[in-house]
Amino acid sequence: MSVFGFKINEGRVIDYDKTDKRIFNYLQKNEPSFNLCIFCGSCTSTCSAGNFTDFNIRKLKMNIRRGLTDNIEKETEKCMLCGKCFLICPRGVNNRNIILKVREALTKIESHDI
Ligand code: SF4
Ligand code: SF4
Repeated sequence: MSVFGFKINEGRVIDYDKTDKRIFNYLQKNEPSFNLCIFCGSCTSTCSAGNFTDFNIRKLKMNIRRGLTDNIEKETEKCMLCGKCFLICPRGVNNRNIILKVREALTKIESHDI
């Protein structure tokens, strides 16, 4: 077998069998427009909170999809719930409600409801 010098960078591997999908699964049930996102980044580029902080709604959703939810609570607190991201989205993704549902999911996770 030929070896071309490529190998997996272990530090960059995301093991989908081990990451936490509870928030992702909660959004599947409670805000299905989450699945319409094509990750174009328009929401991030117009985000009010992004003007004042390092908040990145697109990245946040990508991490939820991947089950990388360690800093999610701190990140969602940065959202001002202004709704601009919903107005700009070409796919009708209700980002504002996604943030609200993520907060709801975090409360349920804390009380072991999901
Ligand atoms: S604007 Fe809409 S489709 Fe584009 S990244 Fe944001 S949520 Fe996804
Ligand atoms: S609702 Fe939140 S994520 Fe959307 S534009 Fe406003 S501050 Fe940004």
